[in-house]
Amino acid sequence: MSFPDITPSLKAAMPELRGRLLANQSLAELTWFRVGGPAQVLFTPADEDDLAYFLAHLAGDIPVYVVGVGSNLIVRDGGIAGAVIRLGPRAFGDAIASGDVLTAGTAALDKRVAEVAASANIGGLEFYFGIPGTIGGALRMNAGANGGETKDVLIEARGVGRDGAKYVFSNADMKFVYRNSGVDPSIIFTSARFRGAIRDADAIRARMAEVQNHRETAQPIREKTGGSTFKNPPGHSAWKLVDAAGCRGLRVGGAQVSEMHCNFLINTGDATAHDIETLGETVRERVKANSGIELHWEIKRIGIP
Ligand SMILES: Cc1cc2nc3c(=O)[nH]c(=O)nc-3n(C[C@H](O)[C@H](O)[C@H](O)COP(=O)(O)OP(=O)(O)OC[C@H]3O[C@@H](n4cnc5c(N)ncnc54)[C@H](O)[C@@H]3O)c2cc1C
Repeated sequence: MSFPDITPSLKAAMPELRGRLLANQSLAELTWFRVGGPAQVLFTPADEDDLAYFLAHLAGDIPVYVVGVGSNLIVRDGGIAGAVIRLGPRAFGDAIASGDVLTAGTAALDKRVAEVAASANIGGLEFYFGIPGTIGGALRMNAGANGGETKDVLIEARGVGRDGAKYVFSNADMKFVYRNSGVDPSIIFTSARFRGAIRDADAIRARMAEVQNHRETAQPIREKTGGSTFKNPPGHSAWKLVDAAGCRGLRVGGAQVSEMHCNFLINTGDATAHDIETLGETVRERVKANSGIELHWEIKRIGIP
């Protein structure tokens, strides 16, 4: 499937644009599940000003969606109409420590942020070592693990609105809840500042090793997956509900509920996005029938079925 190529008209309307615009760019390679159709337009801004310029000059009726490294995403098989924005590591990937504060661009990988923090003796960000996303995804998802989450360490985040205006959000402005932020979904975060606490380097490294070890033994981290599929309902573990409903190992086409951790869905090789989403919906139905509890997707599903 392909969309009409609107890049010539966008370039004409944005003569000062410096970033890269590509038409009908496949998104499957940009997600962990390795499934899904193309983006009508994929835009990689040169820097924050370029992003703001693009958004200010983009017609209001063109939808915009930002992706990180797609570790929490199902892009549907029909692709995404409109503009998909991906912040590249060159312009948005810095991570710099000063005292107990770490400033990172939102294309920086969480793992790298944990490394930079450790090298500067900043403790408190070790949990990022086990999360395979970017800081942009962490801000949107309030990413967390091993007893820590983004809301515990964020000072403030910068972002650009759909109209190209720039904003700064304090921790309170981010309206963090379990695996989400209440900030308007159109905001594209560009950088963030975090505060940790100066600690002994060996203790920080030991904590990071613990985080890594827990991953290796408990999660199918080398599979094509999207991490935890469903949020834990209050007072329950999603994986236990999935297991109790008899869904461990369940398959739809090339998609399978992980045998290792049954809140993870995996693409065993030739799954479509439709297979994965259908499997997830089947699990939700079975859990509802078995326990009466409704599971809610943590993974974001975007695009045209
Ligand atoms: C093996 C595995 C283990 C995982 N373990 C954990 C875990 O322990 N804890 C946890 O919290 N998550 C976990 N995840 C899920 C995932 O890594 C996190 O949700 C991560 O924060 C997503 O980041 P990303 O860059 O991949 O975002 P994407 O998946 O690309 O996008 C996720 C959401 O963030 C938004 N987004 C991305 N960048 C920006 C930006 N710059 N501005 C605004 N919005 C943005 C997207 O629009 C989308 O809504 C795991 C995933 C995998 C595959």
